[in-house]
Amino acid sequence: MIDDQSKALLKTLSEANGIPGHEDEVRRAMTAALSGVAEPTMDGHGGVTFMKRGGSDRPRILYAGHMDEIGFIVKSITDDGFLYMIPSGGWIDQALLTQRLLVHGSKGPVLGVVGAKPPHLTPPDKRGEMVRIRDMFLDVGACSKEDAMENLGITPGDQITPVASFEELNGGQFLLGKAWDDRVGVALATETLLRVGPDHPNTLIAAGTTGEEKGLIGAQAAAWICDPDLAIVLEVGITGGVPGVDTKEATEKCGQGVSIVFIESGAIPSPTFRAFARRVATEEGIPFQDSFYESGGSDGAQISRYKTGVPYLLLAVPCRYIHTHNGLIASSDYQAALRLCLALARRLDAKAVEEIRGR
Ligand SMILES: [Zn+2]
Repeated sequence: MIDDQSKALLKTLSEANGIPGHEDEVRRAMTAALSGVAEPTMDGHGGVTFMKRGGSDRPRILYAGHMDEIGFIVKSITDDGFLYMIPSGGWIDQALLTQRLLVHGSKGPVLGVVGAKPPHLTPPDKRGEMVRIRDMFLDVGACSKEDAMENLGITPGDQITPVASFEELNGGQFLLGKAWDDRVGVALATETLLRVGPDHPNTLIAAGTTGEEKGLIGAQAAAWICDPDLAIVLEVGITGGVPGVDTKEATEKCGQGVSIVFIESGAIPSPTFRAFARRVATEEGIPFQDSFYESGGSDGAQISRYKTGVPYLLLAVPCRYIHTHNGLIASSDYQAALRLCLALARRLDAKAVEEIRGR
């Protein structure tokens, strides 16, 4: 089970709001958590890196998590005061109807509920059909366009985020919340620097990247700022272990450890770094499992292409129901991921990095 420090950070990060391009609240939370440990350096997209020097300036190991979550922006406001929205990131149609969303307007957050045409007004033969996001709208209780704009302070382009509180299930064994993709990664990068202590034979960098869900926008900036020798990209995994999914479709299960990812779209996690991580996990008794991103990718695709090439490791915490209001992770998997991050931080000295890079 994770301790109160991890739990508090995960709650803060999960409940912080920030769609691609609007990650400021998350960056502030990360900066507050690391105050006194490392100073923030901001990039041109609003991303942030924190560098902690140990026994040596080199090698430099980058731990990266993306700060953005999926959300929407306001597209237009009808004369009756309803909002049309454009998704920012990959939403699932059936996860959205009647959910609560928050519009971040000029007069502060405005709560709304996702509406659609009532099924009672739909012809009987069409009632079983899925309602598409393009046919949904956000109802903020405004009486007119003027009411929405002038009284509530809503303008086209405002960001819209999911509303979901952090909760513990089954005595804290599972953690329920929004935006685990990828506040889990942000939390792991942050906690690695917080907990590693002075004895690490390298320089560690924690990065909160931006715009991952809109096309891996900010990851390269993190690499340019810290010039890493290796990178560890921290993400959520697509887990099975629920009714209707067999092991042929998904090898990961919540509660069976940190996922070490073999493949993803558009990039190749380093085979030698992966072998090193598996050996370290085995020696330290850290539970781990195999993972495959058969579709979808990570910031690794950008970081690995930096300059002459950065070998990277893709670690993930298995997560049920990603890209919805309510994701579920096992606290034991988070703990295993953190233990592996810390073990790697202590073991990645010049010789180990040379072996990984030299293949
Ligand atoms: Zn992600």
